[in-house]
Amino acid sequence: IAVSLLRMVQSKKWILAKVFDGTPKQDDFKLVEEELPPVQDGEILLEGLYFSVDPYMRGYDLSGLVGHQMVGSQVAKVLESKHKDYKPGDLVMGYFGWRSHTVHHGDKSLGLGDPKIKPYILPDFQGLSPSLGLGVLGMPGNTAYFGFLEICKPKAGETVVVNAAAGAVGMHVGQIAKIKGCRVIGFAGSDEKVEWLKNEIGFDAAYNYKKVEVEKALAESAPSGVDCYFDNVGGEMSSIIMENMNLFGRVSVCGSISSYNATVKPKATVIQGTLIKRQLKLEGFLVYRWDDRWMEGIKQNLEWIKEGKLKYQETITNGFENMPKAFIEMLEGKNFGKAVIKA
Ligand code: NDP
Repeated sequence: IAVSLLRMVQSKKWILAKVFDGTPKQDDFKLVEEELPPVQDGEILLEGLYFSVDPYMRGYDLSGLVGHQMVGSQVAKVLESKHKDYKPGDLVMGYFGWRSHTVHHGDKSLGLGDPKIKPYILPDFQGLSPSLGLGVLGMPGNTAYFGFLEICKPKAGETVVVNAAAGAVGMHVGQIAKIKGCRVIGFAGSDEKVEWLKNEIGFDAAYNYKKVEVEKALAESAPSGVDCYFDNVGGEMSSIIMENMNLFGRVSVCGSISSYNATVKPKATVIQGTLIKRQLKLEGFLVYRWDDRWMEGIKQNLEWIKEGKLKYQETITNGFENMPKAFIEMLEGKNFGKAVIKA
């Protein structure tokens, strides 16, 4: 009895208490505790170190999740292993959800929608923080790398527009565009973000979309038109940007955050005529399309960081109990770069 008592691990987890109605609120979530079962053959016991809050947690319909644990990824440390591929101390990225401790079958994929990504041991980040496994060296980094390069296929000298430009994916896309020799224009939600984009990571132009008219901003910064548009935001802003695109422009449709909290889906200008006349190509994607090339993205992004070509930002909130707060603040734009919670 003494041995089994010693092995009992209590986990904290956040469950979704209600369906979101508009902007998520603190009382949409409930913190509960549970006792974990002992580790069986093929399983590992993990302790979450860093947790991710991402826009998809609001963008997806989570109504089926009410009463259950919130979905999400984390970087966790293996405390105990009965799986041949893991040993205590390994750092693992996995979609274990909003929970502090996990007993997981090491071979099982987990996640929302179709993430085929099984938990994996973090590659060597060469001294950089393991939290980057949730950001620039993880899913958002790969979203920027594959979603921009594979769909926009940017060429040197072309003009690229990206919005949510000071967020995890947006700031990364803009910097890849610079690496590829493009002109980059960004839209973000505060003057401080705009200054950082221009002064720290070399955006050719950046605007606070809450203060400027997008049409006027593009007339000023892209008088010869836009060739590639990496769309994180959707809605009316996207319609205006597409109306300013050149013949054979490419649009990578990554996210639509402007409507995630909407209780009534907003209307945007009809753009079909523009698509036809300008012969634009629009393509939506989910980053897991490139699951077979996952490590290629991480390796390239790490190389760019080490070469000084790629900068990143993280907004770290301390304390697992602050996950809902960090999530709500990220949706409000309070984050700069990747929003992460440190246990
Ligand atoms: P971010 O770090 O960019 O955080 C979200 C940002 O969105 C906020 O900081 C805020 O910045 C901005 N935002 C919030 N509301 C609005 C609004 N109404 N209009 C314009 N901007 C708004 O998150 P990520 O980098 O993780 O994600 C960026 C986008 O990419 C999201 O749309 C997400 O859904 C999508 N995504 C898609 C993936 C895929 O596989 N297709 C994978 C990963 C992400 P600001 O201050 O500028 O308003």
